[in-house]
Amino acid sequence: MKKHVIIIGGGIVGCMTAMELVNRGCRVTIVERNQIASQTSGESSWAGGGIVFPLLPWLYPETVNALTLNSANFYRDLSQRLLLETGFDANFEQSGFLLLPKFDLETAVAWCANHQVPLESVQASAFGVESPSGEDALWLPSVCQVRPPYMMQAMRHWLENNSNVSLLEHTELIPLKQIDKLSEWQTVSGEKLSADQFVVTSGAWSFELLKETSAKLNIKPMRGQILLYQPQKNLEQIVYREGFYMIPRRDGYLLAGSTLEDVGFDTAVTAEVRAEISAKAEAIMPALRSSPIIKHWSGLRPGTPENLPTIGAHPSIENLFLNTGHFRYGLTMAPASAQLLVSLMFGETPAIDSKPYACL
Ligand SMILES: Cc1cc2nc3c(=O)[nH]c(=O)nc-3n(C[C@H](O)[C@H](O)[C@H](O)COP(=O)(O)OP(=O)(O)OC[C@H]3O[C@@H](n4cnc5c(N)ncnc54)[C@H](O)[C@@H]3O)c2cc1C
Repeated sequence: MKKHVIIIGGGIVGCMTAMELVNRGCRVTIVERNQIASQTSGESSWAGGGIVFPLLPWLYPETVNALTLNSANFYRDLSQRLLLETGFDANFEQSGFLLLPKFDLETAVAWCANHQVPLESVQASAFGVESPSGEDALWLPSVCQVRPPYMMQAMRHWLENNSNVSLLEHTELIPLKQIDKLSEWQTVSGEKLSADQFVVTSGAWSFELLKETSAKLNIKPMRGQILLYQPQKNLEQIVYREGFYMIPRRDGYLLAGSTLEDVGFDTAVTAEVRAEISAKAEAIMPALRSSPIIKHWSGLRPGTPENLPTIGAHPSIENLFLNTGHFRYGLTMAPASAQLLVSLMFGETPAIDSKPYACL
């Protein structure tokens, strides 16, 4: 009989974990309190920018970068496969990344050389962008993007069409009590769901779900707001300047963001942030002053110290695993995280050292 795994949370991390488990011969049920691949009450995966690369990776520990470095190749292949098998296009693009000053040139150059990431010094004006200081910019041509709502939609269809997958939507699980072994988990409506193993991929809500167990999780929601412009003439590359980015979409829209706000589970969008983001966007691309902003949204990232996710077995509850807390780079980290977790669930020695991500 196939091993049955219940995954709690149908964001990018839950869906990627499900695909990996199904590819390894398991039967999977994804339990999601809303609808997978829809914009509902703050989930992070629909809301994200979709850059498949950490912003300034040289600022992060190698434990973060170990989960991100091969991601672009993975998404290139996955997008092609999903297009073929579902007809849904995740809009994978190798857009490149234009980094405007200020930045630590020496550190950036050394990191890119060590990690075989191509990099060159360029004039921002050659890309049709204002570099406020007039100094040279950095160009990383290999950086890629996908469009998160489209990637989620394609994955949802792939999972929905797979006979080894059940999607249990509009179903919420209640917080777990400390027990020795997990064989069933109760929904808010009192139904008991049973499986051989369970995986928590509940993003910003993971701490609430497990706080009565012995797991020491340090995860809290961190709101990010984004604006969507409809420019007359779009950028051709992702542009980044001092914590702020703009991402051109294939259909001519331009996404600008984002914020890092510690406001609990509040998913509101605010006039102050709209003004702040548009001022930053228009400083880099003055033509945006006459372009309409057609959408403004927010998402709750699963915030963690140093962006380090928790991947592995629960410290004291048998049959329970975690894959959560990916903060700013959950889309980028999802493939390597899923592979690492599934290796651990199968009792294998994983390709990367699992200790830094262990649940204590
Ligand atoms: C504005 C913004 C920009 C971003 N840009 C990027 C980027 O460019 N590149 C990148 O790599 N990452 C980016 N991210 C981060 C990335 O989106 C997140 O790290 C990632 O989406 C986290 O995925 P997740 O599946 O863990 O969480 P989520 O997508 O939040 O999914 C968790 C799911 O669990 C469900 N759930 C919770 N509790 C329960 C329960 N009790 N029962 C059932 N279901 C439950 C929720 O409804 C939710 O659907 C961005 C995020 C934001 C907000």
